[in-house]
Amino acid sequence: MTSSPVKKTNLLDLDREAMVDWFVQMGERSFRASQVMKWIHQRGVTDFDQMTDLNKTLRAALANIAEIGLPEIVSEQRSSDGTYKWLLRLEGGNCIETVYIPETERGTLCISSQVGCALECSFCSTGYQGFNRNLSVAEIVGQIWLAHRVIGFRGDGRSKITNIVLMGMGEPLLNFDKVVKSINVMLDDDAYGLSKRRVTLSTAGVIPALERLREVADVSLAVSLHAADDALRNVLVPLNKKYPIKALLDACEAYVAGSPRKKVTYEYVMLEGVNDSVKQAKQLAGLLQGRQAKVNLIPFNPFPEADYKRSPQSSIDRFRDILVAAGLVTITRKTRGEDIDGACGQLAGQIVDKTRRQQRRMSATERG
Ligand code: SAH
Repeated sequence: MTSSPVKKTNLLDLDREAMVDWFVQMGERSFRASQVMKWIHQRGVTDFDQMTDLNKTLRAALANIAEIGLPEIVSEQRSSDGTYKWLLRLEGGNCIETVYIPETERGTLCISSQVGCALECSFCSTGYQGFNRNLSVAEIVGQIWLAHRVIGFRGDGRSKITNIVLMGMGEPLLNFDKVVKSINVMLDDDAYGLSKRRVTLSTAGVIPALERLREVADVSLAVSLHAADDALRNVLVPLNKKYPIKALLDACEAYVAGSPRKKVTYEYVMLEGVNDSVKQAKQLAGLLQGRQAKVNLIPFNPFPEADYKRSPQSSIDRFRDILVAAGLVTITRKTRGEDIDGACGQLAGQIVDKTRRQQRRMSATERG
């Protein structure tokens, strides 16, 4: 009988704490973690033989028991506005998407946290794909590693990726542990060295996880609000039935409590005739007034199955003006990468759906 090969440890799965433990367990000193993290994340080296500040014996040992396992780039698209979108294949065959958005002063990488999404928000393309599984730390961090290799460095030697947003496919707070470990790597000075301000987690509002997140990694917070009343939000973001608006806003306040200058970003997708009226703008202003809040209006990005339309620019401007008049900092998000389906809510990947959502929808259509 042949013995099955030992599964190698994927070092991309380890944040500093885990890597220190791992080295100590193999009888090495803890500073090896710093050395190896720098090689992997900052210098992009995946071949242990090139890690020249490790002795030869250790390099050979690492090659036997460890690897740097990355998702595979299936395709890379570049939009006319400079936005990149990558389709990445994971072990098991599912694919996820990652987007890079260059701006004058910064470069933002939008990464995925799950294969598909379980939340079924009615205006989101990922929701229509169904859900398969959580991403591993290596699959979350691997998106940054790969994008960093393509995008490269600025003149001053720093990465062109200055900001990371967990706004791709999936609900990050439903993959809590893996997301927190990945955030640790984003913030680590031997890896990507980003400040907490420059890492933003976007959530549909998983209240208990928000409380835990604040304790372990209080990065910038964005919340997908999209409606100012529970009846409408129940339809747009079904998770609202479990965690309604008032409780969500209170949890958000608690998240930034004690830091008067911090603000929660409330995302609000602009859907024509659904949530973009004057009355609804006033309602939203009333809801957020006096809170540590700013608003990000997102023009709806269509996808084939969607029943919604983007609000006309005049309605978006009118909505914004009402919020601004009420004293709320309000920004309309620029739509980027639309020609490559890389805009918010358009990320679809290739998902083996475990929820049978497509099937349920089809039989509902037949019945209907
Ligand atoms: N699950 C998380 C993160 C993923 S969605 C969340 O709900 O926040 C990232 C942002 O894109 C959210 O604000 C989401 O509501 C928005 N979005 C989803 N579909 C969209 C679409 N079709 N057009 C514009 N924005 C969309």
